[in-house]
This record gives sequence, C-alpha cells and structure tokens, in this order.
Amino acid sequence: MKTSIATVSINGTLKEKIIAVANAGFDGVEIFENDFLTNNLSPKEVTKIVKDSGLEITLFQPFRDFEGMPDNHRIRAFDRAKRKFDIMQELETDLVLICSNTSNISLGGIDRAADDFYELGEIAKERSIKIGYEALAWGKYVNDHRDAWEIVRRANHKNVGIILDSFHTLSKKIDLKSISSIPAEKIFIVQLADAPYYEMDLLYWSRHFRNMPGQGDLPITDFMTYLNQTGYDGYLSLEIFNDNYRSGPRELIAKDGKRSLISLINETDKKKKNTTIIHNIEFIEFALEEKNLELLENFLIMLGFKEIGKHKSKSIKLFIFDDVKIILNYENTILVKEGRKQGPSLYAFGIKVNDIKSLLHNAKSLDIDFVRKDSNQSMDVINNIDGSIYIVDHNSSNVWKKEFNLQEKNLSNEFDLKIDHIAQTLHQDEMSSALLSYTTLLGTKKSPIFDIIDPSGITKSQIIENEEQTFRMTINGADNKNTIAGKFLENKQGSGIQHVALSTNNLIELVKKLNNQGQEFLKISKNYYDDIEARFGLDYEFCKELERLNILYDEDDSGSFLQIYTPVFNDNFFFEFVQRINDYKGYGASNALFRIAAQKYANDN
Ligand code: MG
Ligand code: MG
Repeated sequence: MKTSIATVSINGTLKEKIIAVANAGFDGVEIFENDFLTNNLSPKEVTKIVKDSGLEITLFQPFRDFEGMPDNHRIRAFDRAKRKFDIMQELETDLVLICSNTSNISLGGIDRAADDFYELGEIAKERSIKIGYEALAWGKYVNDHRDAWEIVRRANHKNVGIILDSFHTLSKKIDLKSISSIPAEKIFIVQLADAPYYEMDLLYWSRHFRNMPGQGDLPITDFMTYLNQTGYDGYLSLEIFNDNYRSGPRELIAKDGKRSLISLINETDKKKKNTTIIHNIEFIEFALEEKNLELLENFLIMLGFKEIGKHKSKSIKLFIFDDVKIILNYENTILVKEGRKQGPSLYAFGIKVNDIKSLLHNAKSLDIDFVRKDSNQSMDVINNIDGSIYIVDHNSSNVWKKEFNLQEKNLSNEFDLKIDHIAQTLHQDEMSSALLSYTTLLGTKKSPIFDIIDPSGITKSQIIENEEQTFRMTINGADNKNTIAGKFLENKQGSGIQHVALSTNNLIELVKKLNNQGQEFLKISKNYYDDIEARFGLDYEFCKELERLNILYDEDDSGSFLQIYTPVFNDNFFFEFVQRINDYKGYGASNALFRIAAQKYANDN
C-alpha cells in the first residue's frame, strides 16, 4: 500500500514540510489549504517541488460546510467549491476532502445531502476532480461514517466517494463491521490517526492529541482488518494534529509516521508479523572515565557484585551477581562517542533474542538506525533516541567466554538475581518516538500513559512489555527540571536509563545480607508503613520488618510485590531490587511518590 501524510502533521514552511515528507520515504502528501495559502510559492512552484521530490499530492483539504445548506447559502457553497477546484487544478491534484457540515444553519436529511453531492459531482466531473466525503465525529447531522456512506451511495455519482478517517470512527466506537461492506472503489482515501484515551470534547481531542498509529490507545489494527476486507489498496494517509508535533523535530516526526505505517501494514499481514522473541535483558553497560572506575566498582561491590573478568583487548570489565551482568566500559572514546561528558553513565543494555537476522531486517524496513558487528564491535547494536541496545543471539552463549578472561568458574545463584526492568527517562516530547521503536521493532505492548506525581511537577509514565514479560521497561517523560526525572535529564545531559530493577526470590534475606556488608538503602517514612499496614491488612511483625529494612510493599490481583531502592549514585542513576510474589504483574507504581519524596528528602539533607 502507498503511504501519504498531511502537511498539517509536521511543522515548517510548506516547502520544508514537503521535503521532510519525501525524505521520510512517503509516496504522497496531503496539502492543507492553510499551508498553501500562508506560503509564498505559486501553485506551479509547489507542484514542481512535490514532483521533484518524487511525491504526488494525494488530496487537497479541507472544504467545510458544504452539504445541506438552506437555499441562499447553498448557492454560495457551490461557488466556494468551484473556487477550490480552481486551486486544485493549478496544483494538479484531483481529490478534495469535504468534511461533514458543522454549521448551525445547515439542514439535515440524507437525500438533501445526496442531491448536493450529485450536483457537485457533475461540476467536478467536467474538471476530472473527485470528491471525498468524510464524516467528522462532531458533524451537526452527519457524524458517523455509516451516514456519510449512505449519502455517497444515494448520490450515486462516479466522482463522489467516501473518505474514512480512523479517528472519527474509533473515537466514537462505531461498529467497524460497517466498513467491510463499502465497495473498495468508493473509498477514495483512508486517513489514519491514533490517540490516547481521554474523556474530553471530541473536537479538542482530535485537534490536539492525535498521534501516529501505535502511539495511542485506539484499536487501529481492528480498523485495518475491516478495511482490508473491502479489498481497498489505495493510499494510507496520516492526518495528525498534535501540539508536540507542531514544535517537535520535523524530520524525526515524519520518519516516525512512516515507521508507524510500515509497522501497521506488517501487523495486519500474517506473513510479515513481527516474530522477534526476547529471551531476557542480558546485561547493562556503563560508560565512564578510568578515573571514576574505582568509585563505580565500589558501589557495585557493596551491592554484591563481583568482578569476574576483563576484556581481552579493550578497557572493559565484567561484573556479575547471579544472572545479572554489568559491563563497565572505560575505553577512552566511549564517553565522547555517547556525547556524555561526565561518566559514569548507564547508556546501554543488551537483549538476547531468538533471531538476530529477522530483527535487523525489521530494523532496516522500519528505517531504525543500527550498526552491524565488526572487528571493532562484538555485537550488533541498535541506536534508539534513548540510548543503545545491543543484540545478543540466544545461540551464542559463550560470547562472554570468547571475549573476556573470566576469573571465576563456579558462580553462585544464591538469590536468583535477574534484570527485572529498565527505567528510561526522556523529555516528554521524545516519549512517543522512543515508544514507537520498542513497539514496532521489538513487537512489545504498551500501557496507557499515566501520571506520576512528583512534589515538583508531573512525570508521564508508560510501561512497555513483551507478551512473555521477559522484556520489561518503563519510559518516563519529564517536562520540568525540578522533578526527580527532570533533574536526572539535566545531570545526564540527555535521555537515558535512570534506574534498573533487579529481581530476586528473597528480597528480605538479600537486604539483610547487604546491610551487614554496610550497604544502605533509601529511607522510607514511618507514615508509609502505618498506611500500608492498614491498607493491605498486613501482619504487624511482617510490616515492622519491612519498616526496619526500608522495603516498600504493593499488591495486585495476582500477587504481592516487595521493592527497595539504593541511594542515587553520582546524581544520575540508582538500582531497585524487587521480588514478585505469586505472579505480581505491576511495577509498584503507587509507591513511586514515596520513592520520589524519599529521594528529595535524601537530597536536601
Ligand atoms: Mg480526516
Ligand atoms: Mg522501577
């Protein structure tokens, strides 16, 4: 299927927009009338830029308040339409979008509207123009694609068809089966947009919160399934109104759009479905200067980690605690390469996957930046907006033996320690882009966005997991410097891993052991323990023990959760230890505000 995007979806001058659309690999572009009217180029010049960029204009829009006008206004509506047709002919485009009437003076009636469209169809026919009718979710009389289709059907004119827009249909939860009975040749174009679920006015929701398919919560794949039943094989066109996109980096947003469409097309095609299986998060990697090595090593040793090897040729050390591997990379070039002047910085992690080839093939088709392994680099690496992801083949179990001189042979597994999840922190306007890479490339699911209340602001948070829950991540979007997440961004000079959670089968014993070694943990207030004792009906002695150890507690439908935090290291990251009891699924989100308050308190004292 061919892909297109509306100029309104990205920012810039009309020329800049067209060029960004072409660079992102789209086949076509919808010209928004305002983008055309406010630019200084003549229609001929615009058409030349579009053609020279290898694009075509898929659509000119919008034309408003046309159908069902009372007599005196009706004549003017037709005159306005003819004027639009003039511009379209100069732009050499043949499809206009007419959205359903929102005017208070308009009149209802399916036949009245059908008559208007037939008459306009006759005028359009002479100029070889096609008219696409779209039901706005807030149209006065027509606000449902089923009514728009009935009007188009009754108009029964070759030059009049319907335009489907996923937002207008899905935001109103209209029965999708009704799409599959529309003849494909009467669907003139399909516009796609997703959106997070918000209870709000439809018009406001649409104008400010639309996003790319896969970034929001609407069931776009279901929409596509019913659309595919019609046999439609025309353009899929993105029409996004989003406040962040209006100020965000145009090239990145256009690329995200293209990526979201490729992923959506693949997802509804069984043969192209993402088959990547992530076995586990295999390791995390710090970049640092050699002079900071001892500081970080001591921090890790206090947490129970042991150095078990040094890289055979590079300044890289491997630390292990049970199943958790941490790499300390103090090669001279690493911090410069990562653009992070002050190490130590937790900048990368590695995942073990079933099939590297198909993953990299996917990355290529999605235009995601990756670097193949070579003599310099022992693993394939994907460069995402929030850091680097190394890819380990599940078959190459001796990647460590091959490259490291390993010192210890009999490693323990006393606490069954594993990497449970990684918490990324980003600027809020980078969140949707980062998310898209994880969902499209790794085939992960995502939770809706939720707010974490920080005493100094709000952090937006979203959970990314694969079906098997062998890959868990939270992404946190900070918008102000005063929140803990915002401070982290400032210190780190960019996005990255803020904390890593390690899971164990016995958190209480682990904490006691580390306490005995002198390790301290983040102090939690007594008030918290009084509250959870009552809230969860906890055993008094058990609760006292949690309080002594500074362990936080949570429950969900399936089980319970214990978690504890280390102090913040070097102002830029910390570890969390967790224990999931009886298949607890969450991340202790209700404890986040206590953690944040404790970190603030520790900071200020
Ligand atoms: Mg639309
Ligand atoms: Mg966490």
